[in-house]
Amino acid sequence: MFGVIDPGSASGIATNQVLHSEWAMPSSLKPGKETLRTQVGIIGGGPSGLLLSQILHRVGIETVVLERRSRAYVLGRIRAGVLEQGMVDLLQEAGVSGGMDRNGDPHEGIRIAYDGRRHRIDLKGLTGKTVMLYGQTELTRDLYEARDAMGGVILHEVENVAIHGISDDTPALTWCAGGESYRLECEFIIGCDGFHGVSRRSIPPEGLREYERVYPFGWLGVLSRTRPVNDELIYANHPRGFALCSMRSPALSRYYVQCSLDDRVKDWPDERFWGELKARLPEEVAARLETGPSIEKSIAPLRSFVVEPLRHGRLFLAGDAAHIVPPTGAKGLNLAASDIRYLSSALIAYYRHGSDAGLERYSEQALARVWKAERFSWWMTGLLHRFPETGEFGDRMQRAELDYLFSSTAAMTSLAENYVGLPY
Ligand SMILES: Cc1cc2nc3c(=O)[nH]c(=O)nc-3n(C[C@H](O)[C@H](O)[C@H](O)COP(=O)(O)OP(=O)(O)OC[C@H]3O[C@@H](n4cnc5c(N)ncnc54)[C@H](O)[C@@H]3O)c2cc1C
Repeated sequence: MFGVIDPGSASGIATNQVLHSEWAMPSSLKPGKETLRTQVGIIGGGPSGLLLSQILHRVGIETVVLERRSRAYVLGRIRAGVLEQGMVDLLQEAGVSGGMDRNGDPHEGIRIAYDGRRHRIDLKGLTGKTVMLYGQTELTRDLYEARDAMGGVILHEVENVAIHGISDDTPALTWCAGGESYRLECEFIIGCDGFHGVSRRSIPPEGLREYERVYPFGWLGVLSRTRPVNDELIYANHPRGFALCSMRSPALSRYYVQCSLDDRVKDWPDERFWGELKARLPEEVAARLETGPSIEKSIAPLRSFVVEPLRHGRLFLAGDAAHIVPPTGAKGLNLAASDIRYLSSALIAYYRHGSDAGLERYSEQALARVWKAERFSWWMTGLLHRFPETGEFGDRMQRAELDYLFSSTAAMTSLAENYVGLPY
């Protein structure tokens, strides 16, 4: 358990200046008046950056979070929803689990449909563990509220964030906002700014190695105010393509269908989406699918990506800034959480005991878990999607693998063990 400090005693630049909603800079810290300083500068106000800031603040380590978007924009993004037990535990330790404890929905199994039938993977029976259904949007809102309650500094709508001095022990961040330029001196910089952020690109190419696989399809996702078609997630392998029935609450459903990379959201009016989803589900499921107007619809390409190492001098990468998985295994958000677990422990050991052993080990330790989740996500994607280039042989291999999966307790246990999350 992390120690809890009086928020007012934290000596971050926000001690008496609560900055939360949109861009604002305390008048005492206007440029030219004094140099801005903090211990840990965090780029990105998504789940990784907010969770790290929350954990560190609770033990008295100062942070400043720089976020390019408005808070409303960040909270408008619909993304992940399946939390592993390790992430649930971390949120509880970080004091941000109230919403999840009240409204999260523990799931003991998942379904995989193929050949018109549904098969169950009994997560609880096979591993003793469950997963928690709780939306990333709600989780991010909880994190913002927790940061506000402690007076955490989150600066929104910052532009042109740039990283300096990571190789020569003089790390600093500069940015523009409200027509002014700012500079923040830090002891460490943490890149939590997602796949398209500035952090990874600030590392000289010779300091990194990238591994990537881009899949020849995307996921079209729809959020609708309808009752979920099933009480457990249904993953469907179908000759027309993959489909997934998921949910965010008893009244809010999230559905996906595999689509072409050339497709645009406008090509998919609601009627077409529901028709296609029904066609890919077993008849008895399609018959009870409740349809309604979409309240969000988006297309996401699928990609596997890892960069090594996760550190360059005083810059550390975490979450989507460092790795991407196709969402099939529900691992993206969970990997962000395990990175933050390792990195926060390392920073706490550094500030409390002067030990940099954890910081030295961070990249290797986090990547060991990342690669296993990459493998699982790649494997689940291969098992369940239509790959145009593999032809009938590929289809038969998939069928054989699915038949084997449901005939072998060992194979089902392997899937279940990875789905509920490997240990931290
Ligand atoms: C469309 C979509 C659907 C997904 N669905 C699933 C799913 O079903 N299951 C699953 O497990 N995972 C899913 N993921 C992955 C999951 O959402 C991510 O793994 C998770 O958001 C990672 O959190 P993060 O904080 O590392 O990155 P992000 O959530 O991407 O946050 C990064 C933040 O940094 C900000 N930023 C970027 N550049 C800058 C800059 N230059 N300066 C300042 N701020 C910057 C961004 O605005 C953003 O708020 C999905 C991702 C996407 C994109």
